[in-house]
Amino acid sequence: MMAKAEGIIIRTTDYGESNKIVTLYTKEFGKIGLMARGAKKPKNPLSAASQVLFYGLCLFSKGRGLGSLYQAETLNAFRAIREDIEKMGYAALILELTDRLTEDGQPSQGIYNLLCDTLLLMEKGTDPAVLSSIYALKMMPQAGIDPELTHCVHCGEKKDHYLFSVSEGGFLCSTCAKVDDYALVLSQATQRLLPLIRSIPLDRLGKVSLKSKTIGEIESIIYAYYERNAGIKLRSRHFIEQLAKFRTNE
Ligand SMILES: [Zn+2]
Repeated sequence: MMAKAEGIIIRTTDYGESNKIVTLYTKEFGKIGLMARGAKKPKNPLSAASQVLFYGLCLFSKGRGLGSLYQAETLNAFRAIREDIEKMGYAALILELTDRLTEDGQPSQGIYNLLCDTLLLMEKGTDPAVLSSIYALKMMPQAGIDPELTHCVHCGEKKDHYLFSVSEGGFLCSTCAKVDDYALVLSQATQRLLPLIRSIPLDRLGKVSLKSKTIGEIESIIYAYYERNAGIKLRSRHFIEQLAKFRTNE
């Protein structure tokens, strides 16, 4: 069956001397694997489309197994992201998370829109670290690991100050802190921002700028949470950490 769909390429693998297998996340069909014949050859019409972060309209055949990609037309080249190594690192994190948290052939309008909107905002200049954190937080229910961020996860009471417990699953008040020796101390900014950025619609985000200490705190909570509670350790995260080290040594 031939199909046409809007989608984003979230992963590519070389296949043989000249082919690639691409993982396309589409609006209509969810995640699908496609063979892009000849895509490793620079002059092949599919070579530009068979890159991670390609966003456009694709024409492909779809069957029980791997389909074939025939044509692709770019909707947004994401030039500003591709030309900036840090943005590209954060975009890779978003794409890897999408790949790890979705199953083949299960469409989700919500995830598709969130993915596109996040990348389009990054292209327009919104802070990539903030955007990838928002994306990762909003995708937590998809991983089945939504943390408690409105009251203490242990006693259920609302307090002014909380710690964060990765193992208990969210905010922990000081009275209950003894249940987790490894509960993380939160800054006031992080405590306020975590529930806020999880619930904020992306179109209402506006201009955000967070202190690098705050966003660093938020990121370490999010990725420790994915690792411990969903068993997901993201390869792209390593690249961003290396990049951050390089920056501070400058
Ligand atoms: Zn408590």
